[in-house]
Order: sequence, then structure tokens, then C-alpha cells
Amino acid sequence: MEGARPLRIGILGGGQLGRMLGLSGIPLGLRFRFLDPGGDGAPAAAVGSVVEGDYADPAALDRFVRGLDLVTWEFENVPVESARALARKVPVFPPPEALEAAQDRWVEKETFRKLGIPVAPSRPVNTREDLEAAVDEVGLPGIVKTRRFGYDGKGQALLRSRADLDDAWERMGGSPLILEGFVRFHRELSLLVARSRSGETRSWPLTENVHRNGILRTSFAPSAAPRASALQAEAERYGAALLDALGYVGVLAVEFFETDEGLVANEMAPRVHNSGHWTQDGACTSQFENHLRAILGLPLGPTGLRGGEGGGAAMVNFIGGLPTREQVLTGDPVVVTALHLYDKAPRPGRKVGHMNVWGRARASVEAALGDGAHLADDVGEG
Ligand code: AMP
Repeated sequence: MEGARPLRIGILGGGQLGRMLGLSGIPLGLRFRFLDPGGDGAPAAAVGSVVEGDYADPAALDRFVRGLDLVTWEFENVPVESARALARKVPVFPPPEALEAAQDRWVEKETFRKLGIPVAPSRPVNTREDLEAAVDEVGLPGIVKTRRFGYDGKGQALLRSRADLDDAWERMGGSPLILEGFVRFHRELSLLVARSRSGETRSWPLTENVHRNGILRTSFAPSAAPRASALQAEAERYGAALLDALGYVGVLAVEFFETDEGLVANEMAPRVHNSGHWTQDGACTSQFENHLRAILGLPLGPTGLRGGEGGGAAMVNFIGGLPTREQVLTGDPVVVTALHLYDKAPRPGRKVGHMNVWGRARASVEAALGDGAHLADDVGEG
């Protein structure tokens, strides 16, 4: 019998997402090479080799791609041109067009709108006059965001009244911006969905997310929203429209606000996502493994909660600091905890690890999530 041949997967970006893709792919016989400007200091260095270089440097891309079977990414701000150049040499999944649709908030909003996916009212802003006009049209409160390179609440300003405009312009004027109306939401929910090269699609249960200062703090799945199954169907419909429009292969994350009128899309990430980290320990198959299965054209693993209905799973991010192993790793058989560290030096606002919590009884996981969040507050900046 012919054994499984080792396959060489190249990943653009060597951060914690790359590290966790590697951790889930090594048992499948995959080998990993990362392209990262940080070189051997990158979190992914523990699970593969790292080519140090700039994402836009043709010589670095050449060194990176030599001998690879397949390329994907864990970082969505790689230049689309680089992804296209690689795609002329090896298969690249998701398709580079998905990067293009997600890198610019205005293009992203237009993509949602064209597919009938509800979004907050929004306008592109290039000049101070545009900002005034956008406020007239969209109303206040609103949020100004940079169109590109914004993440974890960076590159954003809340406008409560017109008096806030000067400050926001001072801080952000000059880069292409977008003004969004402030959405009054009940919950923030995200859909993680995988589609394989064969077209097979599977979604995980909707995840409920809590952010603080624009950074994800905790996730819980499945969502406790009153109409969770209707919301799941709505989210999956929007997810399917995006997968089709983008010719997508891999894991896609879509972030929503739950409002009185239903779901309003905020943004998407064409990659594995922080709000899907609970799947490592709480789902039958993790987002990381299914991303790899999807791009390799393997059957996708089941995405339901481990242990079936009635259970729950949660994730707590450690930001700016870490608890001790002893604080996280209990021997509790009812609420099982897992620790995931990224090999990153703690700095304010930096994600350095997370814990996952899983149990067959949802209420006990909810209680443990509270404890975990306290732990995160104690070690981080709170
Ligand atoms: P983003 O970088 O777009 O994911 O924004 C980070 C966080 O800021 C979101 O998860 C929300 O908590 C909040 N936020 C962003 N946009 C809006 C909006 N239009 N209305 C209300 N809250 C928002």
C-alpha cells in the first residue's frame, strides 16, 4: 500500500495562526514553510522552516515557493500581486481575489451589499469635506476607520458628536477612510465556514464574541441568542453567497452584529480566525485542520460541538500578559481546559495566547468562561 506522501505547504505569514495551522497539519504528514519578515523569531518557527523576507520582495517569494506543493496564508494583508505571482507557480488557496475583497473596507462593504448582505450605512472618505458630507448622510454616532491595514480596533475613531470630527481628522486624515454608522447590536456573532476544492461546505455553530477596545476578549459557541437556529441559517446563507462569489476554497470568517432586524455584516477574514480558536478543543474538527483539508481537497471533518447538543465551548484571549500553566490547566473532567501559547513576548495590547474551555453542560462552561475572563483581566491590562 502506498503511504501518504509528505506534502509541503507554504504559508504567507508566520504568526500564531500559522503556528496553529502547523500544529494541526503535522499529524496529517504535512510539512510547513512560512514567509515572514520576522524570520526565526516568528511564532510559527516551532512548526516549520521560516523564510525571512518581505511579502512584496520577488526574491523572497522565489526562495519561499521553491519545492512547495501548495500555498495559503494566515495574514490577510499580503500584497494581492504577490499571491497572484505565487499562483502562477503553484496552486494558491483561497483564490487571491478573496484577499482583494477583504483588504479594503469599502470594497468589502460593496461586496456584501451586491450580494444582498445587510451592512451598516457607510461612505468612503478622502477629504475633510467628504467627512462632513458623510456625517450628514450616515448620521451620528458613527465610526471612522482606515480602509486598509486596520485590525484589532486599530485605525478607528468613534464620533459621538460633530465636536469629535477635528480630532478624528487630525489622527486619521490622509489615509483613505470609511465612515460607518454605529450599529446598535445585541450581540456580535461570527460564522466560520469551510469549503473544500471539491465544493463541499461545512459551517461551525455561530460563535458569540465579546470585544473590548476593539480587541476580541472571549468567544462562546454555540450562541445563546434566542433565535439561534434562524440566525445560523441566515448567516450560512450569507456565507454561501460569499463563497460562491469569491470562488472560495478554505476557511472564511464573517463577523456580524445581531440587531432587531437580523444580522448586519461587519467584516470578513479570508483565513482562519481568532473567533474560531475554540474549535481546537470544542469541535469535532478544528478550523485549522479543516482549512488544510479544504485546500488539499480532502473530505472536511464534522464541525459540530464535541459531545453533541447541550454542550458549550469557549475561548479566552490572553492580551498583554499570561497566567501560569497551573492557573489554567486544571484536572476537572467536567469542564476541560486547554492552553495555547504563541511564543510571543508580552506587550500591551498584544495577543500572546488563549485558553479553551469545553464541557458537555453549557452552564458549567459559561461559569468557567467567567473565571477565565477574570484570569485574563488579572494578567493583561484588563
Ligand atoms: P472591526 O475592526 O471592524 O472588527 O471593529 C472592532 C470592533 O469595534 C467590533 O468588533 C465592534 O465591537 C466595534 N465596531 C466596529 N464597527 C462598528 C459599528 N459600525 N457599530 C458598532 N460597533 C462597531
